[in-house]
Amino acid sequence: MQYDLLIIGGGPAGSAAAITASRAGLKVALFEKGPYGRDKVCGDGLTPRAIAALNELRIDHSGAHRIDGLRMIAGKKERELAWPTTSRFPNHGAVWPRQKFDNHLLDVAVASGADVRFDSEALPEMEGERVIGVRVGADIYHAPFTILAAGAQGMAAKMLGAERDPNETFGLAIRAYAPTPRHAERHLEACLSLRDEHGTPVPGYGWMFPAGDGTVNIGVGALSTMKGFKKLNLNTLLDQYSSIVRESWSLGEYVEKPRAWRLPMSCVKRHGPGWVAVGDAAGFVNPMNGEGIDYGLESGILAAQKYIADPVTASAAYDREVGERFDAFLRTGRRFSFLIGHPWLLRPGLRIAVGTQSAADITLAVMGNLIDTNTPGAAGRVMKIADSALALADPVLRRTRAKA
Ligand SMILES: Cc1cc2nc3c(=O)[nH]c(=O)nc-3n(C[C@H](O)[C@H](O)[C@H](O)COP(=O)(O)OP(=O)(O)OC[C@H]3O[C@@H](n4cnc5c(N)ncnc54)[C@H](O)[C@@H]3O)c2cc1C
Repeated sequence: MQYDLLIIGGGPAGSAAAITASRAGLKVALFEKGPYGRDKVCGDGLTPRAIAALNELRIDHSGAHRIDGLRMIAGKKERELAWPTTSRFPNHGAVWPRQKFDNHLLDVAVASGADVRFDSEALPEMEGERVIGVRVGADIYHAPFTILAAGAQGMAAKMLGAERDPNETFGLAIRAYAPTPRHAERHLEACLSLRDEHGTPVPGYGWMFPAGDGTVNIGVGALSTMKGFKKLNLNTLLDQYSSIVRESWSLGEYVEKPRAWRLPMSCVKRHGPGWVAVGDAAGFVNPMNGEGIDYGLESGILAAQKYIADPVTASAAYDREVGERFDAFLRTGRRFSFLIGHPWLLRPGLRIAVGTQSAADITLAVMGNLIDTNTPGAAGRVMKIADSALALADPVLRRTRAKA
């Protein structure tokens, strides 16, 4: 079974690669270990950056619930913010429940000509260091290039050495769906001043993402830089958060049991002979807001484009270009996560971040990676200063956190 390109994983990253390569006429097979219609634990939030990536892929997103901005809450401060207006990204986002969203992308991949196989757990087939294809049960599929899009690092990643850096931050988050009369609202809501059951401030946030279908996606996420992270009980944290928002959202009972999953934010190796990693498999989750869908779409498109342009140089060219696009920002994000892992820095930081409307606007643009490099403005200047300051403070922040 010979193909031009093999893809392991049918999330947004894998689908984006499959759509791009199939439309260019390549013979593509994508393997998804789940059944058709599998769900993915997620907040379902798409930022304008993700909408731009969907536009690049020519995906019809009119079925998604449109979102015009973010309500940022920290303590008693509440700010309603519009997405930034830039020439690079549209000024709207969306909430698109993953079961429907991922299915839609896979349907487009099939319509573009990709051979999509469900219930197919695929593992890389190696010849020395080189990936020469994938194995699904007893079947072997061959191709000169394989894209690892298998999400948070598992067995396939382990075989390739594409694992999380143990010294780096990662996230854990939990979500549920619940009915609410406010399901059609056009703002995401994020509460940045969460505390755990012992009163320790949580570097992370609680969210209410209205899905427009009678429900809201409610969840909480935390970064591993938090003091006592290993003992953090996400179910308890979610229950605490839902008790805070229950009244204002007239929240009903959870539609199903809350589910949690990992948010990988680093990867020690994302390419090698005959393969590259994209999306979560490459650790591409923004530590400042937990967003990974956009980075999955962008890296999936890029990996396919590099292979289409030149199969021989694709692996190294992808690594270089994806690095130019994301590495500096994600590194700053990881440093930021060590900063807010200190409770005594998190609290005053939050006061500044939401202190005024314009400060909150800048916070939204910086944390969402929504700065237009052509017209960076105040958010661009803040990002530059944050870059340099965090680079200097990073070693101290990491050392002192370990002692906390
Ligand atoms: C609770 C929570 C909330 C989140 N909220 C948001 C949000 O609101 N917005 C946002 O942008 N991001 C959010 N994220 C992050 C986002 O879900 C991920 O970054 C995104 O799904 C990454 O896409 P992906 O395609 O790389 O991986 P995935 O979506 O995880 O897809 C990987 C696929 O590969 C399949 N697979 C795995 N191993 C194999 C194998 N060996 N063979 C075949 N198939 C395999 C899996 O079944 C899966 O379908 C959230 C994450 C969590 C945990």
